[in-house]
Amino acid sequence: MYGEMMALLPITLIGDKILRRKVKKVTEVDVETVDLIKNMFSTMRNANGIGLAANQVGADKAIIVIDVSVVDEYKNVKPMVLINPNIIFRSEEKIVMEEGCLSIPDIRCEIDRPKEIVIKFKDTDMREHELEASALLARVLQHENDHLNGILFTDLIDQNLKKKLKKPLNLIKNRQLEVDYPVTADAEYRL
Ligand code: ZN
Repeated sequence: MYGEMMALLPITLIGDKILRRKVKKVTEVDVETVDLIKNMFSTMRNANGIGLAANQVGADKAIIVIDVSVVDEYKNVKPMVLINPNIIFRSEEKIVMEEGCLSIPDIRCEIDRPKEIVIKFKDTDMREHELEASALLARVLQHENDHLNGILFTDLIDQNLKKKLKKPLNLIKNRQLEVDYPVTADAEYRL
């Protein structure tokens, strides 16, 4: 369609430096940012993800996109863009859920996290919102918010499991694992 320029962006993999940096806050949603957000949605959906952080596509910006509507219980939840998110409440109660990550393909781990959170963020008009989330939605938001702070879910597992994952993670870092969506070409990815 004329004017509809959507692109799949290569996804950064564990080992890529931008996944380990705290990203910059967004001060203005300019044309470039609008394009980035569109492309983040298409990239996420193409890879069958339900959440994606901007540094997962190499962008140094505090932006998360989420679409949990593919999950039955959440089919009425609209896709969301969260700019400059900040978790302002975490429940004492924690739950274990299995997590995966488009930047750590084929690896899933049970991760313990707060069951409920409240997250503050700005929308694409830079208006501020507060969202209460629990269960899966809270899970996705915490996982993606961690990305913006340079944290991966594999940082949250115990030492034993970390040891076991060393080999498979190295395969990913060295691009020896076949991934069925576009990924960055080398482990020294920079902006
Ligand atoms: Zn992830």
